[in-house]
Amino acid sequence: MDVGIHRSVRQIFPPGHLRELIADVGSVAVVPDDRPVEDCDALVTFAYEPAFLDADLDWIHSVQAGVDRFPFEDLSDRGIRLTNSTGIHGDAVGETVFGYMTSFARRLHVYRSNQERREWGPPAWDEAFTLAGQSVTVVGLGTLGRGVASRADCLGMHVTGVRRTPTPVDHVERVYTPTDLTEAVADARFVVLTVPLTEETRKLVGEFELDAMRSDAYLINVARGAVVDQAALLDALESGGLAGAALDVFEDEPLPADSPLWEMDDVVVTPHVAAATRDYADRIAALVRENCRRLEAGRSLANEVV
Ligand code: NAD
Repeated sequence: MDVGIHRSVRQIFPPGHLRELIADVGSVAVVPDDRPVEDCDALVTFAYEPAFLDADLDWIHSVQAGVDRFPFEDLSDRGIRLTNSTGIHGDAVGETVFGYMTSFARRLHVYRSNQERREWGPPAWDEAFTLAGQSVTVVGLGTLGRGVASRADCLGMHVTGVRRTPTPVDHVERVYTPTDLTEAVADARFVVLTVPLTEETRKLVGEFELDAMRSDAYLINVARGAVVDQAALLDALESGGLAGAALDVFEDEPLPADSPLWEMDDVVVTPHVAAATRDYADRIAALVRENCRRLEAGRSLANEVV
């Protein structure tokens, strides 16, 4: 099989590193910067480019779990299969969210900012708190959501979840459906967004949902920027309707330099890196290897989206 590795994967890891890891699957080449994608059966990519539709591909693998940038209908019309990288980010994103929650509760982000000014600044007596005993609502209980829920449960937090089918999930005390989202978030000290961006989840959290949240609550978004109405979030943060937010994803990325979010004391901004880990390429290699096997055997693919 001829596998192309699109140069855009370098946003996450060096393309040549992945080529070495999957050298056993067939002929594997990194598509050079100045050349179009051609002469390959499969393409492993971060970016989507319209030219992919005319490249005579059988299969495209997205190195991200989120595939909202791909045109599903056009791919299906051309008979190009699309797979994503869900299933591999539960540990990395779970630990990142654990870090955000710990930072807010133990005020670590405040001390780190103070350190830049050589300022010795203890918190007010009632500012710091422990995660044990706090409540967290996780919206979306797939790979990411379960990675968050299991860690929160271990910390002694009360975990509520939102999923389309309200059946029980390990580490989650109570499960709501999306129609009861405002009820699900109303008592939570932390609300964590771990859903894919779809027509149903675009602006899932807007003025109404933010109003329903506690004024001492923190919103954590590791899903996609457009899942939150960012203007409504800014209003809530500026008016004291929310205590703070940890945001890894934004409506516009990179977050524009003039965004007020950069300067808010209780907002932690991270540059879409919640899943970053040095093992990333190894996990992608395992997925690609498995699907090469399946493609050659004429079987359905793992993580098939289209
Ligand atoms: P996943 O497919 O394992 O889980 C997504 C879950 O959300 C599924 O269980 C699905 O049923 C559920 N869901 C879909 N629509 C819903 C709705 N309206 N209400 C409640 N639940 C709903 O995917 P994942 O690996 O957990 O990733 C989820 C998303 O997170 C990705 O699509 C991607 O956009 C984003 N992501 C971000 C990063 C990052 O670096 N910040 C990393 C990985 C994934």
